[in-house]
Amino acid sequence: MSTLKIEGLRASVAGNEILKGLDLTISSGEVHAVMGPNGAGKSTLSAVVMGKPGYEVLAGTVTLDGVDVLAMPTWERAVAGLYLVMQYPTEVPGVMLNDVLAEAFASRDRSADGLDELLKSEAARIGFDEKFLERALNVDLSGGEKKRNETLQLATLAPKIAILDELDSGLDIDALRDCARRVELMSNESEGDAEPLGVLAITHYSRLLDELKPDKVHILADGRIVETGGPELADVLESDGYGAFAPAASDDATDASASALSGLF
Ligand code: ADP
Ligand code: MG
Repeated sequence: MSTLKIEGLRASVAGNEILKGLDLTISSGEVHAVMGPNGAGKSTLSAVVMGKPGYEVLAGTVTLDGVDVLAMPTWERAVAGLYLVMQYPTEVPGVMLNDVLAEAFASRDRSADGLDELLKSEAARIGFDEKFLERALNVDLSGGEKKRNETLQLATLAPKIAILDELDSGLDIDALRDCARRVELMSNESEGDAEPLGVLAITHYSRLLDELKPDKVHILADGRIVETGGPELADVLESDGYGAFAPAASDDATDASASALSGLF
């Protein structure tokens, strides 16, 4: 079993502290949803865990199976078993999707024999048009096609832990269902020698969570997890919004959120 452990993580970007002491632990087969208002630090969290340049870690640790992730360059984090579905997938002109995956397999000492067939069967499972397999990565794809493409790569690579940064943004209902179901299946079943996928699903909307069933729902506000609950917490947010969880930047943020919720639990 694999475990991604984030402890006391503080990080800044452009001189502003965005993550202010964040703790999260995700193990194989678990789905953790992180929900929060715009600007709460959700994408910052995904960027810091994957090592995007420009983010400074001020304190805390991130480990994968006890190994320090923060000491690794991004590619090593990916080879170690982390995968990020970006909120806005990058277009890479001139670089073909199948070549990207062949290189990714090579860096993981996996044979690329059968890769084309695997890509085709995974594409069919999530309704991703085969003709895109021979296109440059994400170039000229619609928002929804990009997210299907990211899901296809996720399913093909089969990492240990996946971070989905708003997989649902830009997706229509059908694409959302297909992608969310595929990830849900990966979190339930081990495929081949792999363990079931551990998932950190960042989202604004409980809609994603109708198909991708979370074990835990966390609310991220002002750089911290201010509340953790079961799937019912997403429904509370859907009806009541984030108002109760958007604390002023102060140390009693957690208390304020807890008291706002105390009547509900
Ligand atoms: P979320 O994904 O929760 O909506 P983000 O993590 O993207 O929020 O952003 C958190 C805060 O950090 C915002 O105030 C945003 O403006 C700021 N921020 C994020 N990335 C950068 C950056 N590269 N440069 C400057 N500010 C940034
Ligand atoms: Mg974001």
